[in-house]
Amino acid sequence: MAALETELREALNDQVKWELYSSYLYLSMSSYFSSIDLPGFAHWMRVQAQEELMHAMKIYDYIIERGSRATLLAIDQPPYEWESPLNVAEEVYQHEQKVTGMITRLMDMATSKKDYAAMAMLQWFVEEQVEEEANSNEIVQKVKMVSGEGGKGALYMLDRELALRPPKIQKVPKGE
Ligand code: MG
Repeated sequence: MAALETELREALNDQVKWELYSSYLYLSMSSYFSSIDLPGFAHWMRVQAQEELMHAMKIYDYIIERGSRATLLAIDQPPYEWESPLNVAEEVYQHEQKVTGMITRLMDMATSKKDYAAMAMLQWFVEEQVEEEANSNEIVQKVKMVSGEGGKGALYMLDRELALRPPKIQKVPKGE
């Protein structure tokens, strides 16, 4: 197996940073939800933050598996305050759409360099992003539904529903 081509290695490294930023962003959102007494939403975002850590480690491990050095870049400070639960949900959805764009660009790069192994690894992320966008959009729609008149009780019920999200079991990589 040929070593990772430099430009692709750097782009994968950058994606490790973005997945870690996603984790940081979602943990900050979790903290916001805790501060406004929505522990179910806080739990949901905390599970999401853990998933993003898994995403980062999946790419980090891949870089090393290909015999390259993983370089850890600086992670930006995430936002701290939001206007409302709906505002947070919409930001999660927008952020996931942005990440999908990043994964698409990585796949384009791996494809142009004919790195079939990297393409196979990235295919997992292509599918994962379909799930991430669908899940976050579902939350946006649910929060919208309860944000109308007399929505406090409904928001409380939604909070209880989100509290039940189980942590995702890490999928075992192929060949192990
Ligand atoms: Mg991710």
